[in-house]
Amino acid sequence: MAELHQTPTSLCCCRKSPPVSGTRCAGASGSRTSAGPSAPRGPLLDVASASNFRCFQLRHLHLDLRLNFAVKEMSGWTVLDLVPVQPGIQTLVLDSHPSLLIHSIDCKVPGAGPEEPVSLTYRVDPFTDYGASLNISLPAAAKPGRVIQITVRYSTTDGPAIWWLDPELTCGQTRPLVFTQGHSVCNRSFFPGFDTPAVKSTYTATVRVPDGVTVLMSASRSSYSKQDRVFQFSMEQPVPSYLVALVAGELQHADVGPRSRVWAEPCLLACAVKKLGGSVERWLGVAEELFGPYLWGRCDLVFLPPSFPIVAMENPCLTFIIASILESSEFLLIDVVHEIAHGWFGNAVTNATWEEMWLSEGLATYAQRRITTEAYGEAFTCLETAVRLDALHRQLRLLGDNNPVSRLQVKFEPGVNPSSLMNLFTYEKGFCFVAYLSELCGDVRRFDCFLRDYISEFKFQSVVALDLIDFFLRYFPELKDAGQREGLEFERWLSGSGPPLFQPDLSAGGALTAPVQQLCELWGAGHAPTAHSLLTFDLSAWSTFQIVLFLDRMLDRSPLPQDVMSSLSVCYSSVFDGLNAEVQIRWLQMVVRNSFYPELPRVRAFLHKHTSRMYTVPLYDDLVAGVMKCVAVEIFNQTQRRLHPNLRRTLQQILFQNQNQNQTPTQNQTSSTQNPPALSVLSPSPPTFPLPAATATASAAAATTTAIALRDVNVSA
Ligand SMILES: [Zn+2]
Repeated sequence: MAELHQTPTSLCCCRKSPPVSGTRCAGASGSRTSAGPSAPRGPLLDVASASNFRCFQLRHLHLDLRLNFAVKEMSGWTVLDLVPVQPGIQTLVLDSHPSLLIHSIDCKVPGAGPEEPVSLTYRVDPFTDYGASLNISLPAAAKPGRVIQITVRYSTTDGPAIWWLDPELTCGQTRPLVFTQGHSVCNRSFFPGFDTPAVKSTYTATVRVPDGVTVLMSASRSSYSKQDRVFQFSMEQPVPSYLVALVAGELQHADVGPRSRVWAEPCLLACAVKKLGGSVERWLGVAEELFGPYLWGRCDLVFLPPSFPIVAMENPCLTFIIASILESSEFLLIDVVHEIAHGWFGNAVTNATWEEMWLSEGLATYAQRRITTEAYGEAFTCLETAVRLDALHRQLRLLGDNNPVSRLQVKFEPGVNPSSLMNLFTYEKGFCFVAYLSELCGDVRRFDCFLRDYISEFKFQSVVALDLIDFFLRYFPELKDAGQREGLEFERWLSGSGPPLFQPDLSAGGALTAPVQQLCELWGAGHAPTAHSLLTFDLSAWSTFQIVLFLDRMLDRSPLPQDVMSSLSVCYSSVFDGLNAEVQIRWLQMVVRNSFYPELPRVRAFLHKHTSRMYTVPLYDDLVAGVMKCVAVEIFNQTQRRLHPNLRRTLQQILFQNQNQNQTPTQNQTSSTQNPPALSVLSPSPPTFPLPAATATASAAAATTTAIALRDVNVSA
C-alpha cells in the first residue's frame, strides 16, 4: 500500500490558492512557479445541502456502527470534529433524512471546562424529498478556531443510501448483504453531516457485525478483530460525504495486482479474477504515466449483486461494480477504466456543487479515453466514443436543443434532486469540452501534462469550472483569448443548451465503424438485403462495440418491415444469443419495438435470467409501450419475487401506473429517493411522442425528462 499520509483537515470548497502561471510540465516531475492572486468570488452555494457547512471547518468524521441484518438496521453514532470559522455561530445545521432516527446529540469542547459531554437540544425540519435539516443548538463554548466534537447517536431504518439484500437477492443466495450508495445526495440517510461535495474530510469507522460477515469500506486502511467481530477503517485522504461507502456480506478476495484486489461473493470470485487478473495494474500504470501518481494507495474492486442500482461507483480505494457486467468484457473494461480515471478526476479533484457534475464525469470520460487509447489504440477508443456520441445525439433528439438539462452548468431550483439531472450530457458533452480544450492546446501530450498539473494543483479539493478554466488560461498564456472565439465561447460551452460545439475527430476508428455503417445502410434500405451482399460482413469477428453500434443504429431505424426483421432474425439471432447481455438486450429491444413475435420466447428467457435494473427497465419500458404489455405483466408476476423491492416498485410503476393516460414509455419510469434512477445501458425509445417543452429551469424539465436523461448512461456516477 502506498503511503500518503496527510494531516487530517477539511478542504472546504473551491476557494483555494490561485492557479499557477506560466507553469509547464517538465518531464515526469514537472516544475512550477508561483502566481498572483485570482479575482475574488462570492460564497459557494449548494442548494442541495441544508447544512451551514460554510460556517465550519470539518476536521474529521468518525462512524461507529452496528449492523443488524435481522431487522435491517444500522445503529450507533457519528462524531464530527468541527472548528467554527465565524464568530457568533449558535446553530449547527446538518444534512439528515427522515429515515434517520436521532436519539441524542452531545458536544465536547476539548480543553474547555468539564470533560463530560454536554447534551444539546436539536430539531429536525423538512428540507426536500431527499433530505431533512438537523438543527443543533451549540453551547456558548463554541468559538472560532476552537475544536468542538459533536456526537450524534442515531439509527437508520430504510433510507435511500442503504440497500439491504435478503439472501435470495444475492448471487450465492445463502447470506444477506448490505451496501450503501451515496451519490449524489443519498448519504444523508446513512449518517448526518455536511452532505455536499464542497466539503472534504478524512474519516474513520468502527463497524460491528455478526460472525461470518465481512465489511469493506472506501478506506485506505482496515483491520479486523475476530474476537470482537469488529472491523476498523481509516480513510487518510480527505473525501466528500458521498464517497463514504460500505458493503457487508459473505465476501472473499483474491489479489489481481500489487495494489489491487477483487472482492466478490464466493461463487463469483473465480470469474472476476479471470476477467481482471493483471489488467487493473496495467490500467493504473498507464493512468499514472499520463496524469501522475495514483493518490489512494489501494485500487480494489467489489462486485455486487444485480440489485446494485447503477453500473459502477468510484468509491475511493474500493470501486463498487455490478456483477452483471462480468459477462460483457468490453463494457467491463470501459467501466473499470472509467472508475480508475475517477481516482484523479472526481475523487482527487471534485466538483464543488452538483450543478457542475461534468467536472467529474467529463474529465473522467476524457481520461478514460486517453487510457484506452494508450492501452488499446485509437481505433478501439474512437469506436467506443462513436457509440456514446451516437447515444448523446439520440438523447438530444428526444429532449430538443433548448432543454436546460443539456447544459454543462445546470441551475438547480431548490428541491430538485441532483441525481435526477445526471445525464449523458454530463459525461459526453463534458468530454467534448475537455477534448476541445485539448484541441486548442494543439498537442495531446502537452494537454496530458496540463491535466497532470491540474491534479497536482487542486488535489483533495473541490473546484468550480472557473478554477479549471483559469488554470487552463494561465497554463497556456498564448490561448488567453481562446475563450472568446465566436461560436465556441467558453461561456457558451458551459451555459448553453444543445449539442456540443465541437466533437473530436473519430476517423481513426473508421476501419471499425465504416463496416457497421455500411451494414446499417444495407439493412435500412426498406427490404432485406441479398445473401451475397452480406457475405463481406462477418459479425462473429466483430467486437461487442461494433455490434452494439450496429444494433443501436438499427434501433434508431425501427420500426422495420416485418420481412427485414425476419431476415435479421434468420441471419443473426443465434449469433446474438451466444453473445453477452449488452448485445442481447439491444436485439430484444428490436424484437419488442418491431412486435416480432417469433422471438418473444427469447425476451421471456432474458427477463427470467436478468434481475438488474439496467437489463430489465429498458425492456419493460418497450414492452409496455407496444402491443406486448400483457406479456410484460405475465413475466413480472413470474419473476417479481427475485427482484429487489426498489426495482419491483419501479417496474410496477411502469406496468400499472398511468394506465389510462397516453403515456410514453420513458415518462412512465419515475424515480424517487427509494428508486434511484437507473444508469442503464440502452438507447431511449424512439421519438414517437411529443418532445418535452423547453423550460427556463432544470426543475421544470426534471419531472418529464429524468428517465429519458438517464437511460443511455452505462458508465456510472
Ligand atoms: Zn463516472
